[in-house]
Amino acid sequence: MKNIYSTLFLVISLGFNINIQSQNLDADKCGFNLLSEEQKKSIVSTTNWGYGYSDLETDLGIWEQHALVDTSFIGYSELGRKLYVLNIKDESIVEEEFRVSIHARTHPNEVQGWYATNEMINILLSETVLAQRLLSKVVFSVIPMINPDGVELHKARENANGVDIESNWGTAMPEAEVEALKSFFTEKMESDLPIDVMLNMHSAYACKRYFVYHHENGTSYSYTSDEKRFIKSIQNYFEEGIEDWDYYVSWSNGTPTRYPESWFWRKYSDEVMALTYEDMNCSSAGDYEKTAFALLSGIADYFELEMLGLDYSPAISSSLNIYPNPASQSSSIHISAHTYRDVEYRIQLISTGGRIIDIPISQTSKSGSVIEFRASNLPKGLYMVKYSSEEITMLGRLLIN
Ligand SMILES: [Zn+2]
Repeated sequence: MKNIYSTLFLVISLGFNINIQSQNLDADKCGFNLLSEEQKKSIVSTTNWGYGYSDLETDLGIWEQHALVDTSFIGYSELGRKLYVLNIKDESIVEEEFRVSIHARTHPNEVQGWYATNEMINILLSETVLAQRLLSKVVFSVIPMINPDGVELHKARENANGVDIESNWGTAMPEAEVEALKSFFTEKMESDLPIDVMLNMHSAYACKRYFVYHHENGTSYSYTSDEKRFIKSIQNYFEEGIEDWDYYVSWSNGTPTRYPESWFWRKYSDEVMALTYEDMNCSSAGDYEKTAFALLSGIADYFELEMLGLDYSPAISSSLNIYPNPASQSSSIHISAHTYRDVEYRIQLISTGGRIIDIPISQTSKSGSVIEFRASNLPKGLYMVKYSSEEITMLGRLLIN
């Protein structure tokens, strides 16, 4: 096993001054405790780490306009902030088979875990092959910010009461955020469509992307085979970016009690693939779209979802987002195309009568840039939105009513 030692080696090689003897890695899978007091202080002085509660509420207003999204909240934080959840579901699903639950910002400064989650939302709301493949059988629940008080109070690791809610799951009286998430998980587990995959999104100071793998001493031999298959399925789509399953091995000394994953294991054993994913918590972090694509494609493969008869490769890691949709004639419509790399492209609207309208694009090659135009000159009706580049053509629908 190269797990613990390689993590420590990486941290040391980045120049952090740490004492190996005093570390208990199971107590801090994200590596915060390996930082010096000075480094910890500099992290806490940052405002919201680039994405605060009001940013989330703004985004919720946009997501809510999407036909696939239903937003609500699972409870309140210690200071009374709503703990929002997005349910992403295609109402036309003939047969719901799987549920995936994803939550981020348990540790407020680990915003990279959220950025990867945000790209997963973008992909799911696109009309790409991957989105269709997943939403033909899977319902997603996404909790973007489980610790909003910590985000707003600039606490790197804790909630308003100074408690690290990641390791607060084994106590008799857990914090409000843990209680809310626990109730949400319990309710879903008792429903007709229980959770099959739970992703707990963090980011690690070792500056690597990896899953926190649970050893068979704390799970079971057959579960570890599933864990390996799950991690490999995702890694297949981002070989150079995501570490092997044995990069970080936990629970070698048995099942702990304090984590969401151990709560799942103790209650539901191998029914749920519950894992922490660690993105990179460092200045060289990025590639969130690619990461999100790998996570979702890997989940689709893990569930053995049909390929929809189309050739499938990472080159199609693209998505087309259209908001609001349906739109009114007074709407300002936003179109953004996320592509594997920056390429020249054009966007056209095609009316049901065959009229083609070119949408002017100012930044012609940048992936993810938002094109905004007003619908005021367009007749009401259904339009095909066509994105075309030399690599790919993507089609979306836009309804103006
Ligand atoms: Zn963390």
